[in-house]
Amino acid sequence: MDLIDTVLDVDATSLMKNSQITFDKAVKRFPTGTTALDGIDLDVRRGEFVAVVGPSGCGKSTLLRMAAGLDRCTSGSVCVATYSVGFIFQEPTLMPWRNVQGNIELSAELGGVDKNTRRERAIAAIDAVGLTGFADQLPSALSGGMKMRVSLARALTSLPEVLLLDEPFGALDEMTRYDMQALLHRLCNEKKFTAMFITHSVSEAVFLADRVVVMTPRPGRIHSVVDIEFDRPRTESLRFDRVFTEYVAQISTSLRGVA
Ligand code: ADP
Repeated sequence: MDLIDTVLDVDATSLMKNSQITFDKAVKRFPTGTTALDGIDLDVRRGEFVAVVGPSGCGKSTLLRMAAGLDRCTSGSVCVATYSVGFIFQEPTLMPWRNVQGNIELSAELGGVDKNTRRERAIAAIDAVGLTGFADQLPSALSGGMKMRVSLARALTSLPEVLLLDEPFGALDEMTRYDMQALLHRLCNEKKFTAMFITHSVSEAVFLADRVVVMTPRPGRIHSVVDIEFDRPRTESLRFDRVFTEYVAQISTSLRGVA
């Protein structure tokens, strides 16, 4: 795993623009010769929720991994103006031998947070994600949606300023997915995270995001950025709004155009 150096570098211009994550002409070419990303310019502002959609293989995960400092760019730069970053994957990746509480405490534990503090944070996080009463359960006793709640709660215990989410709800059934979108939306409003969110679902992107970035096929470039001009907090009824449907149609048409 590459270690961070360009990432977590706070530059003055980013600060002036109130940017939390800045991609500046970022290019990623793998040693295999694959160019995954080609010249990404994107500012994610503090407290903003940005969703990224695009065809499979266009570099969405690579983009997020670079923001997390798990990959470095070949040229250009990626700056994240905080050390406090949480990453949530599609797989909840829970330790099967640890109960809900033990799993939720894990990232704070790895971050060196003392036992009492991480216990308090875990209890608050369990409550925040609606898992009160399940602290002693093992992952094998949980549904897919509950496991994802544990994964979200685990990220919360590190008190992240930035949340990076790589298709976290992709494996869930539709109703559970709606519940998880509502939960994530509420948490983002309460905790004021800056979020970058990868998804294949255009309606999920429109429901959650302040801006939706549409990417081209590989090598991934930014095709367009759509501002979603709905106030927060948003409610379920938004999904039946005419303007919501128009956003979904506009972005889906862009996606079909680039595919
Ligand atoms: P997406 O998330 O949009 O599906 P990825 O970011 O996973 O796309 O991958 C973008 C491209 O980079 C793909 O062609 C993929 O095969 C390639 N790729 C991803 N990771 C690596 C790697 N470690 N080594 C070589 N190629 C990679």
